[in-house]
Amino acid sequence: MGNSDRYRQIFMIKNVKIGNRVIGEDKDILVQSMTNTKTYDLESTTNQIRDLIENGCDIVRVSIPDFESVDSLKKITKKFSIPIVADIHFNYKLAIESIKAGAAKIRINPGNIEREWQLREIVKIAKDYKASIRVGSNSGSLNKDFSNMEPYIALGESALKQVSILEKYGFGDIVISAKSSSVTDNYNANKYIRERVNYPLHLGITESGFGDSGIIKSSIGIGMLLKEKIGETIRVSLSDTPVKEVKAGIDILKSLDLRKGVNIISCPTCARTEINVMELTRKVKEWTAEYDLLNREIKIAVMGCVVNGVGEGKNADIGIAGTKNGAIIFKNGRLINVKLDQIKDILKREIDNYFERNKK
Ligand code: SF4
Repeated sequence: MGNSDRYRQIFMIKNVKIGNRVIGEDKDILVQSMTNTKTYDLESTTNQIRDLIENGCDIVRVSIPDFESVDSLKKITKKFSIPIVADIHFNYKLAIESIKAGAAKIRINPGNIEREWQLREIVKIAKDYKASIRVGSNSGSLNKDFSNMEPYIALGESALKQVSILEKYGFGDIVISAKSSSVTDNYNANKYIRERVNYPLHLGITESGFGDSGIIKSSIGIGMLLKEKIGETIRVSLSDTPVKEVKAGIDILKSLDLRKGVNIISCPTCARTEINVMELTRKVKEWTAEYDLLNREIKIAVMGCVVNGVGEGKNADIGIAGTKNGAIIFKNGRLINVKLDQIKDILKREIDNYFERNKK
């Protein structure tokens, strides 16, 4: 039994409400992203949030650097039922007004709030409005008080110090994050925290980068912890669009069987390949995107040839394999010959049939 399992036996993870969702012990792992529009630009921010929701995002965070953004936040929280988190630095009034504007959670650093009475005031309003608070540490902005510690202990202790400030005011609806750009420090810091307190953890690798390398780094960093049942909500931070972050987050959860959806497997191709597997896999992903949000499980194989493809893909619920003249769609030992331009329609028909036969 790993350490984290042992600690989970000692204490249950606290359930924390974030708007109409709950994270905590045995709850779904929720995927977050953050808008990158100017929050005061209501139209762009609203469009981006809509896009995020359509792609399966569970929680959206917006930056609140000024009071114009709070005005926008008020309208945003009225428009959407998805929990909105307000990200605030330094200004306690922005925190208070964001909670009043309907933020389900605020992200602050209590160490950056100038006076104790200001923090007390934030906590009081958060309690009144049943908003939760995320605190935490980041390898890029660690306070010098922690500079002589091992990096992962510094991250852990810095986050725990913020927790203790909130606890001092009787506040317990806390979510903690400890993010590092080093996968190893990130892993150790989150374990360090999990072994000491039972608040839910928000996982992510900070400044993970762009494109594939950012996704790989995040997947390893987040995946290692989730595999040990550490982490209750995740954000894949990428130098890319927020929708990309959400898709990557959902893929991480699906890979660990923590979320149901369309699982596409495809062959690596070889000299036997008779269809453009890369192109077809991309299309299958696009055609099946709508099924991905149904919380239903289906495995689809995209294989380059019939000779080996049908055998190699037999664990899938539905498969496609390339032939000399097009493709075959196979399932339960049944083969249907299709022309290339028929693949989409027949595949979707077979997916519908599959879900109809395998009702929840
Ligand atoms: S399924 Fe066919 S094309 Fe794909 S790797 Fe196997 S043998 Fe090669």
